[in-house]
Amino acid sequence: MKIGFPRALFYFDFFPFWAGFFHHLNIEVVTSPPTNRQIMDLGLKNASDETCLPLKLLSGHIQALKAVDWVFLPRMVSVEAETYTCPKFLGIPESLLSSVPTGIPVLSVTLNWRKGQRLVLKDLQTMGETLGKSKIEIKQAFYEGQKWQEKFQKTRGAEWNFAPTNLEWPPEPERLKIALVGHSYLIQESYANLNLLKKLREKARVELVQHVDQIEIETNLLELRKKLFWSHSKQIYGAGNKFLADPEIDGIIYLTCFGCGTDSIVQELLSRKARQRHKPYMVITLDEHSGEAGLITRLEAFLDMIERRRVHEGYVSTHGERLDCNSNTL
Ligand code: SF4
Repeated sequence: MKIGFPRALFYFDFFPFWAGFFHHLNIEVVTSPPTNRQIMDLGLKNASDETCLPLKLLSGHIQALKAVDWVFLPRMVSVEAETYTCPKFLGIPESLLSSVPTGIPVLSVTLNWRKGQRLVLKDLQTMGETLGKSKIEIKQAFYEGQKWQEKFQKTRGAEWNFAPTNLEWPPEPERLKIALVGHSYLIQESYANLNLLKKLREKARVELVQHVDQIEIETNLLELRKKLFWSHSKQIYGAGNKFLADPEIDGIIYLTCFGCGTDSIVQELLSRKARQRHKPYMVITLDEHSGEAGLITRLEAFLDMIERRRVHEGYVSTHGERLDCNSNTL
């Protein structure tokens, strides 16, 4: 039996769990190829215009799955206690059924950690009946999936090559250190983000949200008067806030995409804090029309600006200072 797993959205954070789960059940998992022009075009044609880029890409990846017995589209409602995923995750699979190739059935399960492990397991066992697997087999597969996911999180994805760490670069104090914040499925989606991570690594040391440990994230969320309840947003704000306070970080780049509702809040919160702390901060908004030349120009201008600031450290013009304190439009 072959399960088709689209290489988009939840793939970047949770594929190890599902890979371990299905591996234990002796089911082959077939992923769609890395994003290319054809996959993106398929997604753009089929998905709703109003939705965000990652959902459009997911639609393209679903259509690219061939020769599989099922297309796997889990509804990931909540992945940890007291949080939800983005509302667009909750609409899966229904919002994307039209993308599923004709004749291939959809395999789905609702994963809601707010209900606790026992009920998560129960929902998985219900899905297991469709696959002809016993409750005990599903329970063992669940533990195996958890083991694979823990390993992925401990190694910060290094073994899976989703999020290469900074290990390949020797420590060079004179190189700029830039934090790249944003959703995993944008930062690691090199086709859609025009190879931003690679380009940035050629010019600076890079820190990623996905490399910040959970305790630091939680600590940096404490100052919020109201809790963020989207799991990705918590991770982005907590890590972004840590980077803002870190004197070794020379600047922050927030990678977002057109149409992202949760980023519209978190990005604004971080940008206000960056302004207060005089930390260089740039937002890059991706959509299906983003061009490479524009991205490189902005990246180079941002890094040049930080370099100049290093040379003229301590100099802040009174004009800039006044604008900085009283205005949202710099
Ligand atoms: S968090 Fe933003 S980018 Fe991610 S699925 Fe939701 S709207 Fe799309």
